[in-house]
Amino acid sequence: MKRTLLTAFVPAALLLGACSDPPPETIDAAKAPAASTAPIMPIPDSEPTVRVRLERHTSSGSARDVGAAGQPLRVTAAGTTSQWDGPIQVSRSGAGWSVSGRGGPLPQAAIAAEAIEINPEPGVACALPGPNGQDLYPGRMRCVIDPDGGWLLLNVLPMEQYIPGVLQAELYAHWPQSTYEAQAIAARSYALMQVIQRKRHLWDVTDSASTQAYMGDASDQTAINAAGATRGQVLSFNGGLVPGYFCSCCGGFPATGTEAVGPNPLNAQAPLSGHAQPFKCKDAPVYAWTRTVNAAAVESALRDWGRSNKNEALAKIGEVVSITSAQTNDHGRATQLQVVDRSGGRATIDPVAMSSALFDLKDGPPMSGWFTAERDGDSLNLSGRGFGHGAGLCQYGAAAMGEASAEGPQIIRFYYPGASITTAW
Ligand SMILES: [Zn+2]
Repeated sequence: MKRTLLTAFVPAALLLGACSDPPPETIDAAKAPAASTAPIMPIPDSEPTVRVRLERHTSSGSARDVGAAGQPLRVTAAGTTSQWDGPIQVSRSGAGWSVSGRGGPLPQAAIAAEAIEINPEPGVACALPGPNGQDLYPGRMRCVIDPDGGWLLLNVLPMEQYIPGVLQAELYAHWPQSTYEAQAIAARSYALMQVIQRKRHLWDVTDSASTQAYMGDASDQTAINAAGATRGQVLSFNGGLVPGYFCSCCGGFPATGTEAVGPNPLNAQAPLSGHAQPFKCKDAPVYAWTRTVNAAAVESALRDWGRSNKNEALAKIGEVVSITSAQTNDHGRATQLQVVDRSGGRATIDPVAMSSALFDLKDGPPMSGWFTAERDGDSLNLSGRGFGHGAGLCQYGAAAMGEASAEGPQIIRFYYPGASITTAW
């Protein structure tokens, strides 16, 4: 449930991490301070709460068990409180919220509320039973009506309790503590941007690589220690927040924040302009990769993407014979790919869009949108670099630096050139 197909395939150091799918909301450029020294996104001075979307229950009546057997749970909503023993079963229908199990009953005002919250005893994690046992989550659970239909299950918790579960989900257990500390600063900075930008939304982050992976209550001591050692620390530039984008492997050549996530003043900040050489991730198993895919599936996905995104040349592309790099950034990473078909038709697409166009490929998406391809019968032989969007911290590179005795701040300085580390709370 928590894992995407790809995270199951590569269990840690996951793919896109804070990668951009969907991209964070765009800041209105017209409102950005032009040539001013004011920070683009001021840094708050108190620890925020993070709302993690764990599940979407799309059908009416879809029920969810919450709590371990015998676990005391307090259900609060609309000023009411009712006391239960886990597990309880939460569902929603036209009549409102329904909670069944031992305890209650759920007061009428709670049945009619927008959201109900399930609180374990202070300091105790809430259990979520699943097919492979139960997952544990710090903080509280929130069940809220989804305006798109059905309801959402959120984990709501203080930022510092959230970070260890990100580190344990994102990094390999044998990687050094300094790598974890650098990742903690990046992940906290990314989550803080989401919290600030998504105030008017129901949730801030998901628990998967579409934002950054999160596995709930962390048990790994390196993850817990790294979060504690960097408590409150975020990336800053010119007094404002730098979103700590990161990826699994940059393939040696970084993307900029603008290329990876989209153009806005926040992403155009100097620390997101890409790290200098030498690259550190050359020994990563995903540094360079090849893969053979069904050509027709790729062609059909590209045409679909072209139609939905008004790329008419791509919408008309026929039998693809090659995909090549048409343009690169200052670091040497492709920023435009050219797709050529058998009748000489040509279309261009950027690697991030390529990655999203091929996201639903039956055999799984390519590890990054930065690849070239050659036709071979009914197949395309892809040859690519890296894993994820390539901006900010490269996890494999950060691991190699940590193994070579770099401290967390050194890793941060390399991947976010010019950024400072600010202790916000
Ligand atoms: Zn790298």
